[in-house]
Amino acid sequence: MSSEPRIQAYLMDMDGVLVREEQLVPGASDFVKQLQDAGNPFLILTNNSIYTQRDLAARLATVGLDVPEEAIWTSALATAQFLDHQRPNGTAYVIGESGLTTALHEVGYILTERDPDYVVLGETRSYSLQRITQAIRLIAAGARFIATNPDPIGPSPAGILPATGSVAALISKATGVDPYFVGKPNPLMMREALRAIDAHSENTMMIGDRMDTDIVAGMEAGMETILVLTGITTREMAERFPYRPSRVIDSIADLVESPGERAVARVKSLPARVRGSRHDASTSRT
Ligand SMILES: [Mg+2]
Repeated sequence: MSSEPRIQAYLMDMDGVLVREEQLVPGASDFVKQLQDAGNPFLILTNNSIYTQRDLAARLATVGLDVPEEAIWTSALATAQFLDHQRPNGTAYVIGESGLTTALHEVGYILTERDPDYVVLGETRSYSLQRITQAIRLIAAGARFIATNPDPIGPSPAGILPATGSVAALISKATGVDPYFVGKPNPLMMREALRAIDAHSENTMMIGDRMDTDIVAGMEAGMETILVLTGITTREMAERFPYRPSRVIDSIADLVESPGERAVARVKSLPARVRGSRHDASTSRT
């Protein structure tokens, strides 16, 4: 009935999709420009809770991707939204960096070591055993335990680093309390992202490079999903999962339309490259 394009909004993972090892993935800025020109709402998602939206926008700008800070959605923001809905104007003891503390302050949270409603664990550049010990004592005394994301390790030039998920495991072992993880693959992160751009899951495409976070989260939130192979997943790895993305493409560059395609797409009022049905799934190659 409607001549409106079915896919109108886009959620995109950042690492492995738009940037890779501090370099822009070829085609990433063209694709984002295409969305901006067409007026398609989009958000760039990351489970990294270290940085604020402004920090991340500046980091993307240095590699050549210009997006407004509002176009970025982090697990820190999702955590702050979640706590604001659950227990407005609460208190929290935070292990994390400015991305997380700023987000919590902005929703009206007070950060304290005295009898907090929550212990909120995020990513830091170096975890302090003293702060972890304090978190353990507060949880043992009754504080609720929230973690921004479950990722066990993160990358660094020198090798892998223990990340939020690993430190959460340490705290859980000491307290017998498991955290509630807000970031991907929790569909909550996707729903909050949709709300932030006023989009609906049935009209939204999730683009990611990980099956066990991006694709499963998009699928469970009811979105179309695209797996790109510029991150950590190969076509063979993707086939082993019990669920499939709607499509697998080599790179986000495959979603950039030529000027001719754009004209055709305008006539048909449908984005040419995003019309693939659910069933052409991971076998399609564009
Ligand atoms: Mg990624």
